[in-house]
Amino acid sequence: MKQVLWFRRDLRVEDSALLANAIKDVLPIFIFDKNILKNLDKNDKRITFVYKSVLELKKKLQGLGLDLSIYYDEPKNVFTKLKNDNFDEVLCSVDFDTYAKDRDKEIESIIPVKRFIDSFILNPNSHLKKDNTPYKVFTPFYKSLSMITQSNNIQEYTHNKNLNKVDFDYSSFPTLEEMGFEEQSLPDYLYKGGLELLEEFKAKVNKYQDERDFFYIDASSKISVHLRFGLISPKQVFNYFKSFNSTNCESFIREIFWREFYNYILFHFPHSEFNNLNGLQIKWNENEDDFLKWCEGKTGIPIIDAAMIHLNNTGLMHNRLRMVVASFLTKNLFVDWKKGEEYFAKKLLDYEASSNIGSWQWSSSTGADASPYFRVFNPYTQSQKFDKDGIFIKSIFSDFENIEPKLFHIENGLQSNLFVQYPKAIVDIKLSRQRAIDKFKEVKNEQF
Ligand SMILES: Cc1cc2nc3c(=O)[nH]c(=O)nc-3n(C[C@H](O)[C@H](O)[C@H](O)COP(=O)(O)OP(=O)(O)OC[C@H]3O[C@@H](n4cnc5c(N)ncnc54)[C@H](O)[C@@H]3O)c2cc1C
Repeated sequence: MKQVLWFRRDLRVEDSALLANAIKDVLPIFIFDKNILKNLDKNDKRITFVYKSVLELKKKLQGLGLDLSIYYDEPKNVFTKLKNDNFDEVLCSVDFDTYAKDRDKEIESIIPVKRFIDSFILNPNSHLKKDNTPYKVFTPFYKSLSMITQSNNIQEYTHNKNLNKVDFDYSSFPTLEEMGFEEQSLPDYLYKGGLELLEEFKAKVNKYQDERDFFYIDASSKISVHLRFGLISPKQVFNYFKSFNSTNCESFIREIFWREFYNYILFHFPHSEFNNLNGLQIKWNENEDDFLKWCEGKTGIPIIDAAMIHLNNTGLMHNRLRMVVASFLTKNLFVDWKKGEEYFAKKLLDYEASSNIGSWQWSSSTGADASPYFRVFNPYTQSQKFDKDGIFIKSIFSDFENIEPKLFHIENGLQSNLFVQYPKAIVDIKLSRQRAIDKFKEVKNEQF
């Protein structure tokens, strides 16, 4: 029996379902998938991160007496060759978005595939309500998991020590340039390991609940990119914090389960990848100019523009800011959440289909457990509350260094200063809020 261990978004050797479930003779592989890469910009930072992580994985596997064969190809070509080389089956972790499901179906027609839940804690299929239907609301979902969430440890996989590296050519390693990408500089924390980040966050976890919304403070774990590409598993994150038995990590653990919840929702309601889960049929504003101004950070609203410029420059955005810009796009500009979701998918370093789709539907009041439609964040109130002194806004707009912060928190406040060059706000916040609420009300009355 010769098995292929197909590493995809689980780039680690600890708590690895593949290394635990493999039997003996194995070929670990990673494929830089041409079908995915062809749609990305050549300066996509995620590819630099994945590339460096694949190199590290290769070294770690070598440390276990194994190795990693690396391809730049379409998966179907790789597996057709491996089938001809007499490999019997493939082990991989499972993903529930449409591209991943279609890809895996195609591979299964070439060679048998065994899939494991390895990027999430829960198997979404094995957790239903008493009436055998899936949960749609986070709080009861979370409460129903108390056996897990209140435990101090979730068992991790240990790797099978009897694995043999099969004879193979492990030397090929496409360069970033050969794949059409340029090496990018990454935020410093992405050069650190997952456990190192958790160690750093441990000192802050007590204050997490109180400080997590203040986007000028470095108060969150910054673990999302490592989780996305599986450099650390969610079980490892959970166990790490439970191991020092801090009651203050409760709110942080809850967030980890929002990630589980959105994956669960995508699994049970796959149509929500492209459609409003709550079934509302909304006629959105199709004005491309409004959307482009939002993307480029040219809306004339300081907090929105600073957040979007930061995203465009770094691939990062704080959770509170994601909620504020998503509410602004879908409520004040009344633009379809799918356009915002796609834009985030292109830019976010931690882009994860289920979390992104679920969170956009939450913000646009179109999801399962969504924010009520009349809840529209006022961006000026948000910046007043969470960036009173304009520390974040000034970090993006250096020209505003000497501006009185209160001007950031008033509609067209900056524009009242004759020495500042800044566009007028593209919408009146109160009027656009009311327009969105009226439209939602109308659609709900008509359709429900
Ligand atoms: C519109 C919108 C889009 C989003 N898109 C993504 C995405 O593509 N990928 C992504 O990982 N997160 C997404 N989030 C959730 C959240 O913003 C990020 O997980 C968080 O900012 C990452 O920073 P952190 O690791 O420091 O988070 P922490 O606050 O330290 O949280 C720890 C972990 O919990 C999970 N988590 C926290 N909040 C959420 C949430 N609301 N939903 C799901 N999981 C959560 C993440 O895995 C995160 O790394 C989105 C939120 C919004 C409002």
